[in-house]
Amino acid sequence: MAGLLRLPHGLRLPHPRHEQFRQLLLITHEHSDHCIGLAALLRQNPALKVFANRETARRIQGSLKVKPDWQLFETGTTFELGRLQVTSIPIPHDAADPVGYAIDCPAEDGRSARRVTWLTDLGHATDVVRHHCALADILVLEANYDDEMLDLSKRPLHLKQRIRGNHGHLSNHAARDLLLGLREWQTSELFLGHLSKECNRTVLVDEVMNAVRQHKGDLRVTVVDPLEDDPVSTW
Ligand SMILES: [Zn+2]
Ligand SMILES: [Zn+2]
Repeated sequence: MAGLLRLPHGLRLPHPRHEQFRQLLLITHEHSDHCIGLAALLRQNPALKVFANRETARRIQGSLKVKPDWQLFETGTTFELGRLQVTSIPIPHDAADPVGYAIDCPAEDGRSARRVTWLTDLGHATDVVRHHCALADILVLEANYDDEMLDLSKRPLHLKQRIRGNHGHLSNHAARDLLLGLREWQTSELFLGHLSKECNRTVLVDEVMNAVRQHKGDLRVTVVDPLEDDPVSTW
């Protein structure tokens, strides 16, 4: 479902079939592509626990007929979800109080502890964003648009400016530069996501990311295709 925190293929949190994982949602911000399916999910499961900060919850509640079981947190704090620790990360985006998430998964079944970090919808890389990118074992990062495709698109000028702005989205080149600018980083798996259907293509992201592959040989890179039917690729 669009934009709610979904794990792309290959990401496995501990006990993924555990009931808990069908009982809760982490919301990043109130833009419609990130909460459009919430009403339907609540109809299926009215007891769904919905995690968001206060301002994001307030904005989303305004368009809902029912009141979800909001689990409010302060941006920048860490809370526990069973054996997981979840840290919300402030990001620069034109929403009320947008966040990314870092999820710490404990060591289990002979596998060492891992941190999964989700950072989409950000206009530029802040120090906090860079810090969290460097600490991620598995990183989901936005590569939203190709500059030329955005230029050539029929989108109105104000929208193009919004997307390119400091509180818009990361271009393919901006995502690459963010990663190449990290001094030390421990990421072993990188997922590039939130590609614009109209202004990006996986092959273009792939091409731009060759520099990152050369820079960090042990990195596995996956570009998540927004045109695929698989729901985990629907952003
Ligand atoms: Zn957004
Ligand atoms: Zn978005």
